[in-house]
Amino acid sequence: MHRLFIPSADQPSERREPAWWFIFLKGRLLVSGEGDRLTIPLSPGLEDLGLDTREEIFLGTLGERPCYAAVPAQGASAPAGMTFLDLRQVYGRVAHDLIPIAFRGLHLLHWSQKTRYCGQCGMKMRDKAELRAKECPGCGNLSFPRISPAVIVLVERGDRCLLACSPRFKDGFYSTLAGFAEPGETLEEVVEREVREETGIEVKDIRYFGSQPWPFPDSLMVGFTAQYAGGEILVDGTEISDAQWFSFDRLPKIPGKISIARSLIDWFVTKHQSKEPEEERHD
Ligand SMILES: [Zn+2]
Repeated sequence: MHRLFIPSADQPSERREPAWWFIFLKGRLLVSGEGDRLTIPLSPGLEDLGLDTREEIFLGTLGERPCYAAVPAQGASAPAGMTFLDLRQVYGRVAHDLIPIAFRGLHLLHWSQKTRYCGQCGMKMRDKAELRAKECPGCGNLSFPRISPAVIVLVERGDRCLLACSPRFKDGFYSTLAGFAEPGETLEEVVEREVREETGIEVKDIRYFGSQPWPFPDSLMVGFTAQYAGGEILVDGTEISDAQWFSFDRLPKIPGKISIARSLIDWFVTKHQSKEPEEERHD
C-alpha cells in the first residue's frame, strides 16, 4: 500500500485522530511488537499511552493521518508492551514508509532542543508560524533546521574497492570513506580531500550515486563513486585504524542495510557479480 507523506510545519488547530506518534527517548524510537513485525503507536493521543511529553513537533500527514514527533517527559519509561529501539534496529521491521518520517522527526527534535535560545541575543525562541523555523522575539533572528552535508564515497580499483575501519565503528566493520563538507568546498573537493586525508589515495572520475538523510544528529549523506588515480594506502591510526582494497567477492564485515554505505557496496558487488568472466579480465 502506498501512502503519500506530505510534510508540513503548519500544525492543524485541532488535533485529528488517530495520529502516528514518533516518540524518541535519547534518540531511540518507541515501538511495539516483536521480531520483524514492529509498529509505532497509532494512537488518539499520548494520554492513551500514559506518556507525558516535554517536546512535540507536527511533521505532516501520512495518507489521512497526522504525524507527530515527541520526546517523553523526564524520567518517563516505555509503556507496557512497548520499547525504545535504535533506528538501526527498527529499520526493515516497520512499514517502509514510516522510516523517512522517523528520520525527519529525530532530526527536527535534535534541532529544536539545540535552538531553545537565540544564538544572537540569548532570548527564548518561539516557533515561526507556517515555517519550519524558530524566531527570536527579541532580535528577529530566524533559525532553520541545520542540515550538515557529508560525502560518502566508494573508491573503485577494477574489481576491488577501498574500505576502511574506524575505531568509532563499534562492531569492527569496514565501510566506505566519509567526511563532512567544510565551508568553501564543492562536494567533489570534499571527496578528494577526505580520501586523501584518510587513506593517502588520489581519486578521479567522481560520480554522484545518491543521497540519504542521516539524523545522527543532522547530516545529509551525499554518496559518490570514484576511480583510483594513484597513491599507496597510508592511514593515520586514529580516525582510521585500517584501510584495504577488498575484492567484491571477499568482503570483510560491512555496515547494515539502513546505510547508503551499504547501498554503495551492494551496488559494487552486483556490478561485478553480473559481469562475464571474459569482461572481468580487462579490468
Ligand atoms: Zn535574538
